[in-house]
Amino acid sequence: MDNEVAGSALDEQRKKNRGRMARWRARKPDRVKARREAEAPARRDKTRARWANDPEFRARQKANKRKWAEAHPERKKSAERARDAARKEQTRERSRRNYEKNKEAYLARMAAYHAAKADERNGKRRAREAAEPEKERARTANRAAWKKAAAGRISKEDIRSLCVSQFNACLYCKADLVDGYHIDHRMPLSLGGAHSLSNLQLLCVPCNQRKGNTHPDEYESRIGFIRG
Ligand SMILES: [Zn+2]
Repeated sequence: MDNEVAGSALDEQRKKNRGRMARWRARKPDRVKARREAEAPARRDKTRARWANDPEFRARQKANKRKWAEAHPERKKSAERARDAARKEQTRERSRRNYEKNKEAYLARMAAYHAAKADERNGKRRAREAAEPEKERARTANRAAWKKAAAGRISKEDIRSLCVSQFNACLYCKADLVDGYHIDHRMPLSLGGAHSLSNLQLLCVPCNQRKGNTHPDEYESRIGFIRG
């Protein structure tokens, strides 16, 4: 009789304790999580050991995994994606470490590569210039205009027609353009000028440098140039 009473009191006490623990867990999810995480390595080791030593367990786990994958194709896919993303990070991290380790050699190799490429490019450019100078000038001017986000294109024929109409002389000082010339945007691109034939003129290098980005009316009145 006494034992029975004592037994049921113990049950009662256990029930109370369980309730208290459940309430504590509900109040402190962070602590629960921290504990689960702290115990994770030991749990993983145990599972690994079982996986290695217990073929039945292994078969059961595999079957469960297959069943889960069939039941949750979406979640399987997202898990795979997460795994690939994690590996990508690892790969990136590894190459970053390798780069840091071999930085000097890597940079030297890149510099040598670019130097060789630049030589090759410059050689090709010089050959093109020699063959068709106006074509190369048009190309360079188009590229520069494109970089400044200006619309329009010019051709080697445009430059040749300017040479003819200006009698091969700088528009301002009449210096011979054979000594070198710049393709000038009469209204500078920076002031909204167009990159097109009607806004182009050929100037000797000093004149072009003096004009710079000045408004054409201002510059021409300064040097006393009257447009014919
Ligand atoms: Zn000039």
